[in-house]
Amino acid sequence: DGHYDLDAIADAVDEETAIVWLCNPNNPTGTYHSHETIEAFIQKIPSNVTIILDEAYAEYVTAKDFPRTLELMEKYPNVAMLRTFSKAYALAALRIGYLITTKELAAQLNVLRPPFNTTRLSEQAALAALEDQDHLKKAVEINQQERQKFYELDTNLTIYPSQTNFVFVETSEVEALNEAILKE
Ligand SMILES: *Cc1c(COP(=O)(O)O)cnc(C)c1O
Repeated sequence: DGHYDLDAIADAVDEETAIVWLCNPNNPTGTYHSHETIEAFIQKIPSNVTIILDEAYAEYVTAKDFPRTLELMEKYPNVAMLRTFSKAYALAALRIGYLITTKELAAQLNVLRPPFNTTRLSEQAALAALEDQDHLKKAVEINQQERQKFYELDTNLTIYPSQTNFVFVETSEVEALNEAILKE
């Protein structure tokens, strides 16, 4: 149904597991897991395993029960959150995002960071983007309206419920659909 099988992931964790990485909302299905579901999942994972919640699409989320991840991080220090300016903030080419985590994990990652570092220009752009919350709000509203149109289509296609800026469509007519989209 477009969701990770969290029970199966939890069962697969063993003493060799260092990281569990979850995209929420997920790419490419667009589906999401709720606060309650994610918290129940975290409780099943040993506290020495880092759980990365990759929230690249979080700004587009309109679901009320989306995880309050900062709150979860207060309770479970092995949880870290990734965000990006590449999606709703539209700064993809500037290569900038951020991780919120403990001082300890940040210190470890900073050892690896220099070759992948952000630039001053991208940092300035990100700060300006953060300040322009009106623009973000407008982009997210338009996205929500346009996303909704897919669910109002008169079609027998399976369209997964999306909390992102794309929809995942299940179809056996991949070639025809590809051609039609290319034409547009
Ligand atoms: C776009 C995206 C990112 C971040 O992309 P960057 O451009 O590297 O910041 C991370 N995770 C997922 C699932 C994405 O779709």
